[in-house]
Amino acid sequence: MMENNILVVDDEDYHRELMQKLLSKLGYEVEAVESAEDAFSSLEKQKFPVIITDLIMLEMDGVEFCRKIRETDNKTVVIALTGHTDLYDIDRLQEVGFDNHLTKPFKMEVLKQAIQDGFEEFRRRTDIQDDAL
Ligand SMILES: [Mg+2]
Repeated sequence: MMENNILVVDDEDYHRELMQKLLSKLGYEVEAVESAEDAFSSLEKQKFPVIITDLIMLEMDGVEFCRKIRETDNKTVVIALTGHTDLYDIDRLQEVGFDNHLTKPFKMEVLKQAIQDGFEEFRRRTDIQDDAL
């Protein structure tokens, strides 16, 4: 597994491309897909320590996507991308298994910190698992 891989899921081209650009600039390997379905295809081929997903998407939305990930995976760090007008509350996001959320539009510093924290948390989770073996 590449230690600096991030999977971005967003159905809006502009947001997806912006995220890809910003995260690449920060030195991460970014795969950006436009739907939860495409994300699952990517996840079959490769593991990602950190996933950032938009919430409002056609077909499967971000909440359902995260819930499905959590059926089999409690280690991957999943971050929600929320808009100011989204009707999801933070408690609900935590309930389905999100680790964090970013509200659009966000500052580069905020994104950077959230991703750093995400990778740190992933390392912590996988270390704990290794120790238990
Ligand atoms: Mg959307």
